[in-house]
Amino acid sequence: MAYKHVEFPQQGQRLSIENGRLVIPDHPILAYVEGDGIGPDIMRACLRVWDAAIEQAYGGKRKVHWMELYMGGKAAEKYDGNVFPDEVKEALQQIIVSIKGPLTTPVGGGFRSLNVALRQDLDLYACVRPVRYYPGVPSPMRQPEFVDVVIFRENTEDVYAGIEYQAGSTEAKRVERFLKDEMGAEFFNDSGIGVKPISAFGSKRLVRKAIQYALDHDRESVTLVHKGNIQKYTEGAFRNWGYEVAREEFGDRTITEADLYSIYGGKQPKDKVVIKDRIADIMFQLMLLRPNEFDVIATTNLNGDYLSDAIAAEVGGVGIAPGANMADFVAVFEATHGTAPKYANQDKVNPGSLLFSGVMMFEYLGWNEVADLITFAYPEVIQRKIVTYDFARLMDGATEVSTSQFADALIDQIKAKVDIEARRREWFTAVQSGREEREARRMAEPFVEMRASGRTPHTVADIMSHIRTVKPGVFVDQVMHLMREHGISSVVVEPGRDGLWAIMTQRDIIGRIIHANRSPAHVKVEEIATKPLVTVPVDMSLQECASRMVESHIRRVVVEQSGLPVGIVSDTDLFRIVDELGWEPVVL
Ligand code: NAP
Repeated sequence: MAYKHVEFPQQGQRLSIENGRLVIPDHPILAYVEGDGIGPDIMRACLRVWDAAIEQAYGGKRKVHWMELYMGGKAAEKYDGNVFPDEVKEALQQIIVSIKGPLTTPVGGGFRSLNVALRQDLDLYACVRPVRYYPGVPSPMRQPEFVDVVIFRENTEDVYAGIEYQAGSTEAKRVERFLKDEMGAEFFNDSGIGVKPISAFGSKRLVRKAIQYALDHDRESVTLVHKGNIQKYTEGAFRNWGYEVAREEFGDRTITEADLYSIYGGKQPKDKVVIKDRIADIMFQLMLLRPNEFDVIATTNLNGDYLSDAIAAEVGGVGIAPGANMADFVAVFEATHGTAPKYANQDKVNPGSLLFSGVMMFEYLGWNEVADLITFAYPEVIQRKIVTYDFARLMDGATEVSTSQFADALIDQIKAKVDIEARRREWFTAVQSGREEREARRMAEPFVEMRASGRTPHTVADIMSHIRTVKPGVFVDQVMHLMREHGISSVVVEPGRDGLWAIMTQRDIIGRIIHANRSPAHVKVEEIATKPLVTVPVDMSLQECASRMVESHIRRVVVEQSGLPVGIVSDTDLFRIVDELGWEPVVL
């Protein structure tokens, strides 16, 4: 493409993608978009801090060659009123990694928000928001240091898909007629109507990215946050697809929370990430009461929107919360707050959000030394109470400084050679001791912990016991030893010549061996096992499972996945889970 106002720097090299990996040269070209309102103030300050940290970390061996791209007001001046020119879109894709300030969103119809346009046009499907506490930052929490999560919010679908019809419009009336007359739906006349599409494709690529992040960054868990108890086929489906990706694509590197308790007795196995899920409304409560139970969060668009701001507010508000919008490789890092027009060009506001978006960007590039220098220097400055106006008004005895003075103080701190290794060790020790403490609690009192941490099993996969299989031809007495040794009341028998799986339970032994007066040493397991199995799919709800047992007059069902038995749920399991964790009737 022949560019009009896009100029690539003379020096530096572009990032590239080779064999499915991002290749980062030592002198990469990265793009920045200043943005509107306070954007130029914070971008100017941050570029200075980032460059100083790079110089400090690598002494000239590595250096970013920045190029400016234009969106919003500055673009309109250069491109005859066009706020998001095609050549900028093209350049953002070519450059792969960029960072932007906030952009004005005109209010009212007829104009897509620039941020929405950017996400949609570049298909930046994951909005990633790390939220953690920095010592010294004012917070309303009692123990803000427990907050350290990375939120992956789906960015392209849900009620944000833009399928919405105004009350009383011709379109709304047509949709209303269709829903009522053809689908039997009931709702008030003349409603505004919005549609919430959630797809397997959209959900899975988001959860895949979240799990990969957790594995790459030694995180303990990924929590799927959803409202599946009410919206079964959208939010509930998101949750089920999330577990499916974990099972099918990361089977050897992930376990479910059910496995954590039932197989591992609450002890987290090394090198595995726990996949769990929580209902969205409970999650807000849990992030206030037990934030350190959560690590990486993957959620749908609307939940993610609310949750990211709420969690950010726990540890310093939007002024310092960073973010990024990402596709598989292309990533646009961005300040998460708006343009705060009343403060534009006053050199006044907090550059923290953009600053830490830059830290995320350097982590994404693998330049962890730069990220660490800024991360560890920042609290030193804040703890000396050198802060911008927003923090100053929340602190006693603070020295209020401008945006650029804050950048100066931070650069001085970066140059003062913080002992990064010592800080890293401190941080690692704190993370480790938190993990050990939680693990000890899970192992000592599993049900107390499950309940307190908001675990609510929904599907058979959440409560099933993993099966033990035996081969046909084995004698019953041998299987009895096995059952006693493992404390289990049934085994699944692999298929014989007829190709059918079977199940043998303690009741079969009582009825078909002892009651029938036969010797377990002379009867083969397949002779008394029951077939065919009554199976249910892994994502069947507990309520449906109970109905299946009642209707089929059976006391246990075999859980099946991809045609193979993977677990067993008995009436005792259902009874125990309801007794221990309570039972909320399902809203249908
Ligand atoms: P805003 O620009 O985020 O400002 C709201 C308030 O948040 C400010 O008045 C200020 O609070 C505080 N604030 C924001 N950034 C700050 C910073 N860096 N340091 C300290 N305090 C900060 O939200 P808005 O006024 O609702 O939106 C203004 C424009 O920004 C709109 O056009 C909106 O669409 C757009 N916007 C863009 C993005 C984006 O580009 N990603 C995101 C959100 C909004 P005090 O008044 O209490 O000092």
